[in-house]
Amino acid sequence: MELGESREPTATEIIMDTQTEIKELVKMALLNVNSMITFRESLEKLLDKNLQEIKNEELRRTAKKSLEQFAFNQLQQMNNILDLKNLPLIVVFASQIQNNTKKAFQVEINNLWQNIGRTTVNKAFSQLGNSQAMVKNNQSLYGHSELVTRYEEQQDALNRLRTKTRLVICDTHSDCSDRCFPWQGRVYSLDGTSGITDDGREYVPLEEATNVIDKYGYKNGLLGFNCRHKLMPYQRGKKPVNVTKREQTVQNEITTKQRAMEIKIRANKEKALSFKGIDNDKYKLYRNNVTNLLNEYKEFCKMHNRVEYRSRINI
Ligand SMILES: [Zn+2]
Repeated sequence: MELGESREPTATEIIMDTQTEIKELVKMALLNVNSMITFRESLEKLLDKNLQEIKNEELRRTAKKSLEQFAFNQLQQMNNILDLKNLPLIVVFASQIQNNTKKAFQVEINNLWQNIGRTTVNKAFSQLGNSQAMVKNNQSLYGHSELVTRYEEQQDALNRLRTKTRLVICDTHSDCSDRCFPWQGRVYSLDGTSGITDDGREYVPLEEATNVIDKYGYKNGLLGFNCRHKLMPYQRGKKPVNVTKREQTVQNEITTKQRAMEIKIRANKEKALSFKGIDNDKYKLYRNNVTNLLNEYKEFCKMHNRVEYRSRINI
């Protein structure tokens, strides 16, 4: 995806945005004692409104369940850390309405946090900023959504190819993963046969490349987790650009670095949002981090001739 394009948001983007909105909802709920019913209502409304745009029904259901659980877990955790049940929160909220000024509200909030203690407040909101909706113990909803959508795209592409051709060529990327490297650029059959093409290239069934089991026991070969390879119909004499192992190693490292930068930007953005209206200094700190990291990211992309992934940094 190129940057700045206008297009429909992907399922993963919808999910990430919703997760951010839920964190905001949790924050608001913490400041309003009588909010359990409204919290539940607002949450349901938010989920219904946002998730309806996800076309894959199963992913939509999984996302809803995971985000619901996430919301209530977060509320519970924040309550546990801040130990809010004995504090006169209604005073805070009432004064906000009465004075209706941001400043007065901020003073009340500061008093409240003073009572609880800075360290505890920081712990709670850092935790909220870092938190992620999960589908299983070890998999985030974000990761799950990426896998599901990519797999779906690949299956659609494969089905389209099957109607047109028996042989396919896998394209090449200079920043290809080590996992895919031995498989990229080669010819494959879609009907389980092996042989030699009319321009003299050896081909094997696609399954030989895709059905590789990784060390965790997952089927994870070519077109596996996070694979961006594309297949195209075989054409006599058509050969993708050859990538040397040396070039692949260099480019793959750049990609890994770029991904790490994107994750860091998003994490700081989430933290900034988490502290917004709670602790102004911390908010500014993380917001500045985001600005600096973004500049670094832009420089990095320019230097290595890479596309900036707006959707990944979610700004
Ligand atoms: Zn790949």
